[in-house]
Amino acid sequence: MRESGSGAAELATACAVCGGKARVSFTELEVPHFGRVMQSLLQCRACGYRHADVMSLEQREPAKYTLRVESPEDLNARVVRSSRGRIELPELGITIEPAAEAQGLITNVEGVLHRVLEVVESCIRWAENENERRQAQKLARRLRRIIEMAESVTIIISDPTGCSAIISEKAVREALDVQEG
Ligand SMILES: [Zn+2]
Repeated sequence: MRESGSGAAELATACAVCGGKARVSFTELEVPHFGRVMQSLLQCRACGYRHADVMSLEQREPAKYTLRVESPEDLNARVVRSSRGRIELPELGITIEPAAEAQGLITNVEGVLHRVLEVVESCIRWAENENERRQAQKLARRLRRIIEMAESVTIIISDPTGCSAIISEKAVREALDVQEG
């Protein structure tokens, strides 16, 4: 891996989907109150596949972060989510398990809620019956209200690799029992 002066590096690899030539770029950055991370982005020109992830460059313990989202500051709190991070919104009964296709990213709480809304909207499209569709529509409406700050919610992000975090003084950090993850 060749590293440029800016801390970005790039290397050629085989695409996990089509086997074609893909490139992965790495960018190292410092996330305030969290530490050094490496962001990676794989892009395949042949089939358009993209995969983003975030890795920690520091030793980390499995951790769980809980934040009560009730103000614009909470919506703006920065979130680091690796592809192993699990997102829960207990009041809404929503859990998003890390799938093989999960993308790691650095965003904020609002960005995470938009991502959850996308998942719920795809459930509306793929619902097998009217009841499922109505349930998903109800959840989508609540998520939009939460994003507009008309309703508050608790968000929990847990990661057995410790590389996911909600960066806010208000967020409660606990050690995660890896057996449950
Ligand atoms: Zn490809």
